[in-house]
Amino acid sequence: MWVREIYQSRQGEGIWTGTYSVFVRLLGCPLRCSYCDTVYARNFPSASDFDIGADLSPEEIAGRVLLLDQPHVVLTGGEPMHSKEITQLTKLLKDFDYKITIETSGIFHADVFCDLMSISPKLSNARPNENQIADVKQHDEYCSKPEVVRKLIGRYNYQLKFVVDTPQDLDEIDAYLDKLPEVIPERILLMPQATDVKTMDEKAKWIIPHCELHGFSYCPRMQIVWYGNKQRT
Ligand code: SF4
Repeated sequence: MWVREIYQSRQGEGIWTGTYSVFVRLLGCPLRCSYCDTVYARNFPSASDFDIGADLSPEEIAGRVLLLDQPHVVLTGGEPMHSKEITQLTKLLKDFDYKITIETSGIFHADVFCDLMSISPKLSNARPNENQIADVKQHDEYCSKPEVVRKLIGRYNYQLKFVVDTPQDLDEIDAYLDKLPEVIPERILLMPQATDVKTMDEKAKWIIPHCELHGFSYCPRMQIVWYGNKQRT
């Protein structure tokens, strides 16, 4: 499995915000989101790309996680669910009794051991710039898989996290959720698209009332508050 980084930090988003966790960032994601903050982790590496990551077995990854001695582990990316060995990795981690979160865009399904499937379906605000034609084509091909999201929420404890940029996004979220009536409102998190606290607070002013109206949860990005908008390794 190609790994970009393994580090410990606090979970900054979602229902387990604040929990000290080991983060395992796997390489590779077929999407090309406009706001991607982990561009360095989305290319699928080749055997010669040792400068961007390391090719580790699930056993080696679990060994490194164990050394950091935290009860929670977050498998993130890139897109962790695309990896063929994700099942084996989650089984090993569960054998050591970890609380496992998987952060995914909800475009791939896999049989995994997982305590929280944190799904972030992509809205049209994630579409890359029209000038990047190859990126747009690839992104459009993969970005919306509601049938996969339905399967994931049917099988796993989940949260559904939407990145919200403008008030128009709220209508798009409502339309998306109309197709998934089984989703429990409290599991729906609306998170502002922001890279600084000021922008986040501005957007919170119109996102929070919408959450209150629909029984959703507002999801601040606490890692920006705690650490600023920077890579944490
Ligand atoms: S799904 Fe995540 S890792 Fe992939 S391009 Fe979008 S923001 Fe980046």
